[in-house]
This record gives sequence, C-alpha cells and structure tokens, in this order.
Amino acid sequence: MPGFLEVALPIAAFALGLALGSFLNVVIFRLPRVGLALDKPRRSFCPNCQAQISWFDNIPVFSWLFLRGRCRSCREPISWRYPLVELVAAFLSLYVFQAEGLTIRYFFILYFLLALTAIAFIDLELMVIPDLLVLPTILLGLILAVVSPTPNLLGGYFWLKLLSLGWNERVISLMGSIAGFALGFGTLYIVAFLYKTFRGRTGLGDGDPPLLGLIGVYLGWISIFPVLFLSTAIALMSVGVLIVLGRFPTKTGQPGGQPIPYGPFLVLAALVWHFFGSKLLWWYLGLFG
Ligand SMILES: [Zn+2]
Repeated sequence: MPGFLEVALPIAAFALGLALGSFLNVVIFRLPRVGLALDKPRRSFCPNCQAQISWFDNIPVFSWLFLRGRCRSCREPISWRYPLVELVAAFLSLYVFQAEGLTIRYFFILYFLLALTAIAFIDLELMVIPDLLVLPTILLGLILAVVSPTPNLLGGYFWLKLLSLGWNERVISLMGSIAGFALGFGTLYIVAFLYKTFRGRTGLGDGDPPLLGLIGVYLGWISIFPVLFLSTAIALMSVGVLIVLGRFPTKTGQPGGQPIPYGPFLVLAALVWHFFGSKLLWWYLGLFG
C-alpha cells in the first residue's frame, strides 16, 4: 500500500499544474497585447464578445469540455489552446515533481518549462518573443545554478577537473550556465548576422538568440548544438507535413515566402532534450559503437 503522501503529492502537483496552466493562458493572451495588464481587467473575459467569464466556466480543462469549446454568451468557439496549455502545464508539473521531488529545483525548473511554453505559443501566434518572459527566466536560471550546483551544466569532465583544482562547485556550475547562455545567444546571433549580410534580409526573429541563450542557461552549453539540430529537424518535418497536406501558405508577397516563427521549434527541441537528452546521447554514441 503506498502511503498517503505518495499518492497525494503527485495529484497536488498535477492540480497545481492545471491552475498554473490556466494562469499561463492569461499570460499568453495578455502579455504581448498592448493595453492589457496581467491584473487588469481582474476577471477573465471572452476575446470575442468581452463577456466576463464566471469562475465555474473557468475551471481548467473541464469547463472547456463542458461548454464543448464554445463561449456561454456568444457561442463562438474558444481556442483549443486553452485546455491544451492547461494539460501541458499539468503534465510538466507532474513530471518535474517526479524527477526533483518537493525541492527548490521543482519550482525553478517548472518556472523555466512554463516560461518556454508561454514563449512558444506567443511566438506561434504573433511572431514575437517578449523580453518580459525571457530576461527574468534567464536571471532565475543563473540563481538556480548557484543555489543548486549541477555538474551537467559545464559537463562532467570539466566539473571534475575544476573540482580537483580546488574550485568551488557553485562557481563551476554558474560558469556552465553562463557558457550555455553565451554559446546559445552567440551562435544564433552569428547565424542571424551572416544571413542578413548575405541575403540582405532578416531570417531570424530578434527574440531567437536570447531564447537559445535562455535554454543554455538551464540545460548547459552541451545542449546547444543538439537543440539546434533537433529544432531544425522538427521545423523541416513540420513544413514538409504542411506542404503535403496543402496547408502551407505560399502566397504572401514576401520575397522568400511565408515567415515561420522559429521559437516554438526551439522550445520543442529544448523539451525533448530536457526529458530525453541523456537517452538520445547514449543512442547517438551507440551508433559509433
Ligand atoms: Zn463570447
């Protein structure tokens, strides 16, 4: 028989994730829109008819299912993004709880993953990545590297090497985090610069280099090239699928066609690397015997 806490805590983590996901929907909708603050107006409203949404129509996932995805007042469809974000947040919370337990790392890592989720959905819809989401999350990641030193940030080899030289583990961990930011930001900044120089137009959003820098802060410099590779692979596959389905919009009048936000693919790749990175690495190394 599992103890009470063994059952109650994962359920609590899942429920907390649902509630945070509900707040995340508010962030995703309001943060990039001029004139809307996170606390103003106080109550949630329908983006179509502006009707206030009562608390019983605002219960994560369930209300959307109960209302069959439509607003109670105007019957206009409510985006599937709302229940999706709530479920994603709930499962992220549960997963991080299982991995980290009820520790300070649980809250920091969950904040990182939820910020990435919000960034992905905002970039997907509006092609912007708000600094207000990226910069504080970078700062928290640097703090986490000091509060909870992690060998993975700089890599096991350098970690042991510097420890044997008498370095403080918090300093080594912070160095790993800063190296992750520098490599992530620097790589995409150079790519964007070269693209602009040789093609004469922008190929990347302004928010993409800081986003990869942010990912490096939490996942270390070792994650940067796998994340770049994975995100490009996922992006190319998605475009391929959209073309096959005939859903890829081509007539835009833009030289070079339809701009695609890169942020969501960076986020997807970072999540894959965060959850399966070590397994992928062993599989990759296994290819070479
Ligand atoms: Zn409505």
